[in-house]
Amino acid sequence: MNIENLLRNNIKSIKAYSSARDEYKDASTDMVFIDANENPFQTNVNRYPDPKQSKVKARLSEIKKIPSSQILLGNGSDEVLDLLFRAFCEPNHDSIITLPPTYGMYSVLADLNAISINEVLLDSDFQPKVEKILAIQNEKTKILFLCSPNNPTANSFEASKIENLVSEFKGIVVIDEAYIDFSNTESWLSRLNEFPNLVVTQTLSKAYGLAGIRLGICYASEFIITILNKIKPPYNVNQLTQEKALERLNDLEKVEKEVSIILLEREKLVEALQTITFIETVYNSDANFILAKADDANKRYKQLIKKGIVVRNRTTQPLCKNTLRFSIGTQIENQKLIQTLKQLK
Ligand SMILES: *Cc1c(COP(=O)(O)O)cnc(C)c1O
Repeated sequence: MNIENLLRNNIKSIKAYSSARDEYKDASTDMVFIDANENPFQTNVNRYPDPKQSKVKARLSEIKKIPSSQILLGNGSDEVLDLLFRAFCEPNHDSIITLPPTYGMYSVLADLNAISINEVLLDSDFQPKVEKILAIQNEKTKILFLCSPNNPTANSFEASKIENLVSEFKGIVVIDEAYIDFSNTESWLSRLNEFPNLVVTQTLSKAYGLAGIRLGICYASEFIITILNKIKPPYNVNQLTQEKALERLNDLEKVEKEVSIILLEREKLVEALQTITFIETVYNSDANFILAKADDANKRYKQLIKKGIVVRNRTTQPLCKNTLRFSIGTQIENQKLIQTLKQLK
């Protein structure tokens, strides 16, 4: 499989912007830096941030056992996904495949980039219809988005189905693993080098508790990462974000502890939801949220708002009629949710 053939023509020969810090790299040396039109007075952030985010990548590399040359960081996963569109999808010509119900950003970014969207609904178990997906692909279908664990259904896709898709699909396959740390299924990072068309995205927004700093991560072949690095804005991850990310990545024990609490709370919340009379189905969750089918999602959503609890109403999503999505909160928040649900008439 030749990934270069999938690239847009203008990207094949594109030259990266060369920043001052690209041209003279070693910012730690005792030199006079007057090459970037920065303000010399100290604010702690008066200098441009490291455009390569070397420290954060080195730490991620250590944790995930993936070389830095196969890691790209972005201003949230959303920027990472947008870069993939820009690299591979020719506006007003190419298309992508999404598997609704799923994360809304894939189609928003497709619209933004003037890329048409082929939707293949998940089956009734919220699994991908592999045959159907492979049957509709053509030379213009550049990216297939697999979200596993999937938002909003909370389940993981079967490994054999994902493997089939990654091996047979003729374009790029993006596996969005935003929720992987809440799942027992193995990350596809361990298989990265087997598939030249595989891109795995993760984020610090969920398990790492850093949604506010906006740090998304993309793992792929060195070839793909080199391309994405060329087209990303040079200073796309700001210095405060890099510092905060590093601090958190150096305290994994705390992250793991919080994740284990969330998993425990998820188990309790699933059990409690099953006792609520107007909740018909509580779907299995591999994520930090639970999807449940109610008698009347619109009515229950409004009742909860009146009681001061905001959940996500997913009733308009395909296959999700009358479903509500509950993020796992603190023990106190979850108890409040359950107490409130019990009282609703
Ligand atoms: C929350 C979420 C993300 C995270 O996006 P960021 O831009 O990194 O905050 C990515 N993918 C899915 C499916 C999500 O639900």
